[in-house]
Amino acid sequence: MSVTMGVSAGAPVTTYWAEHAWLPHVNGPVVEPDVLVEVVDGRIARVVPDSGPCPAGAVRLAGLLVPGQANAHSHAFHRALRGTVQVGSGTFWTWRDTMYRFAGALDPDSYLELATAVYAEMALAGITAVGEFHYLHHAPGGARYADPNAMGEALIEAPARAGIRITLLDTCYLSSGFGAELTKPQLRFGDGDADAWAERAALLKPREHARIGAAVHSVRAVPAEQLGTVAHWAKMRKAPLHVHLSEQTAENDACLTAHGVTPTRLLADHGVLGPLTSAVHATHLTDEDVKLLTDSSTVICMCPTTERDLADGIGPARRLASGGCPVTLGSDSHAVIDPFEEARALELNERLRSRTRGHWTANALLRAGTEDGHASLGWPEAGRIEAGALADFTVLALDSVRTAGPSPRLGAETAVFAGSAADVRHVVVGGRQIVRDGVHQLVADVPSALRDAVAALLP
Ligand SMILES: [Zn+2]
Repeated sequence: MSVTMGVSAGAPVTTYWAEHAWLPHVNGPVVEPDVLVEVVDGRIARVVPDSGPCPAGAVRLAGLLVPGQANAHSHAFHRALRGTVQVGSGTFWTWRDTMYRFAGALDPDSYLELATAVYAEMALAGITAVGEFHYLHHAPGGARYADPNAMGEALIEAPARAGIRITLLDTCYLSSGFGAELTKPQLRFGDGDADAWAERAALLKPREHARIGAAVHSVRAVPAEQLGTVAHWAKMRKAPLHVHLSEQTAENDACLTAHGVTPTRLLADHGVLGPLTSAVHATHLTDEDVKLLTDSSTVICMCPTTERDLADGIGPARRLASGGCPVTLGSDSHAVIDPFEEARALELNERLRSRTRGHWTANALLRAGTEDGHASLGWPEAGRIEAGALADFTVLALDSVRTAGPSPRLGAETAVFAGSAADVRHVVVGGRQIVRDGVHQLVADVPSALRDAVAALLP
């Protein structure tokens, strides 16, 4: 198989040669040896499997080449909570109080530093695109910055510095609960009403590495009669729309009390569901909720490492996927940042719950983290190793202490069920190598950058 795209005459070609690559195939993805990947203008121009030895002038990539991973759900500043929130016990809601303390300490400059370091950690983990669910809009207390999108602009600049792509999911967050005003730490999340949110969000402009989407924080945070405004904003722009859904049973109970329907039903009634919408978590659903989500082809974003960290429960991902919902993955609170851990947790959670194996193949799990993840963030041209796609890819070592042994033919199974972020050796975004031999090429010392950015937030 050799496929060539129309290559503009004279454009420089960068040639990568991978020992092995996970490639699309009519019968499902396969691992092929000796794969040439030619890149022109940031896109894959040609893919040649079984091409023979690495030619002179090509960049040799030892290991398994897979599409870059899409981290479909992130709150960058939650990375500052790592470790701190593992002391003692507490609940989702006490965890949230700690999270608000860190949120209160951020300004546009310190958020730029923190997010750059977090996105650099993502790059080192093989992530090439992030969906940032952003609600930290204003100054503490709710005062507006001179640029009302100063925080969002910091989050657009940070991935440029870290070498990855972003979809900034600008989040509407208006109330503390059904009919409840924002609490003091939440004041900086609020725009007043959905029209004011829409006006501010409309000022954000896409860049080469950045696209703009929308989010409803949750049915708790956006009054029912204003949900349609956010949905309309996204629909007019054909932009992704994300929403936290039924992560906690308390949200379902409060929604039933306030509106007499489940959160999923409320979203459906206000036009929020659909194929451009991602419902994040979707943990506690009724049979009718599942039907509403599958009938509308809504995307389901699972965040298994966060859901287990916060003792949320296990959402019905398999059932939703079988009904036609694409499933994607996110590291959400960044308890860990490891897309391979997220992927295998989808299958392993189902095994624990059902006491049977074989719900998701390794190929299906890799697809969730790549092609479907990118599509859910509004990057449908990324997430596959084929001519015409964006040249975003990740190379995992197959000779590490974790991955050595299995035949390379089992590369997908090895990567998903035994590999980790620590096995990521190379990362290329838009044809540019941003991680080489496990070293970030743009951020000199990622651990120090993380340490300094987190320390800056501490009293
Ligand atoms: Zn979240």
